[in-house]
Amino acid sequence: MSGLRIEIDLDKIGTNARELVARCGDRGISVTAVTKAMLGAPDLALALSSVSALGDSRIENIERVRNAGIETPALLLRTPMPSQVERVVAADVMSVNTELDVISMLSSAARRSGRTHDVMLMVELGDLREGLMPIALNAAIRHVLSLENIRLRGIGANLACRNGIAPSNENMGELSAIVESVETTFGIEIDVVSGGNSANLEWALDDSSEIGRVNNLRLGESILLGREPLRRRPIIGLHTNAISIVAEVIESQRKPSRPWGVPNQNSFGEIPEVVDRGDVWQTILAMGRQDADTADLHAPDGAEILAASSDHLVTATSARMRAGEEVRFEPGYSALLRAMTSPFVAKCFHSGVLSGAAGCR
Ligand SMILES: *Cc1c(COP(=O)(O)O)cnc(C)c1O
Repeated sequence: MSGLRIEIDLDKIGTNARELVARCGDRGISVTAVTKAMLGAPDLALALSSVSALGDSRIENIERVRNAGIETPALLLRTPMPSQVERVVAADVMSVNTELDVISMLSSAARRSGRTHDVMLMVELGDLREGLMPIALNAAIRHVLSLENIRLRGIGANLACRNGIAPSNENMGELSAIVESVETTFGIEIDVVSGGNSANLEWALDDSSEIGRVNNLRLGESILLGREPLRRRPIIGLHTNAISIVAEVIESQRKPSRPWGVPNQNSFGEIPEVVDRGDVWQTILAMGRQDADTADLHAPDGAEILAASSDHLVTATSARMRAGEEVRFEPGYSALLRAMTSPFVAKCFHSGVLSGAAGCR
């Protein structure tokens, strides 16, 4: 087994998904499970069979899911690159959109291939990432409705990702009002009203919230890590330990905690301030910033992360460790994202339910 690895318990993730599907279902909300933190791993997609759709920000990941023979409806969560419109149309997905030029290109690509492409228009509600300003929406819709081979299926919004703006009755109410106004203005029906991501859960599951027209959420972090992203609190009843990162000890020596000599910048341009705590068991693990966002790793009892360079994670452990012993960390979203994209981290899927899914890739 590879020393440096990410272990993914697909049964726990499947349970988290089913639980969130049930809770959201009680509020009339469907779940699109977001797979981008795990590169659209087909094993993950299979474990998410309870959700109504899969979502990913990258067409490459959706193609990976499709190539594995998985036909679940899919949503491309990031507005398509003009250079990829052909692939987006061919992958048979709905795509989120904010630029009329891009939708026109999707229309041409869809016409050329004899397909119809579904779009969800994103509106800006204050977090200032993607989305049309509400005032620009009607003109955009008029244009979209005039395009051949394009079907307007949804209106959505995204909060919390850039500025941490929380979903509330106010901004979600604005989304519902926008949807109703669009429906009366154009005499159409908007199928999917996608209110946001895992940051929307607390709002969506609170009995006193006015759900209005919101009938879909796109959930990634809450399914994978069992936490809500506004304050990173565990969601009661969900597994928060479905994913761990295991690294191998390569050195453990009794050393002073304070460096000596003339301090300058380290390899990442920082000049660390070090507290003198006397001698420590300084244990080095074969993992670095290339493999995980080491600031976003939670160390187990008896180990503390002191520093990280590209390939060395320096910890203080309560005792000497032997080379080859292992330490298991819990990743946050950022650490998970980087570990999944490092070619040096083996991806190990475990499942008692899905036969064939076990093993490291
Ligand atoms: C990443 C992403 C999501 C999922 O976010 P989580 O916080 O992981 O639930 C949802 N919608 C969009 C547009 C995204 O980019």
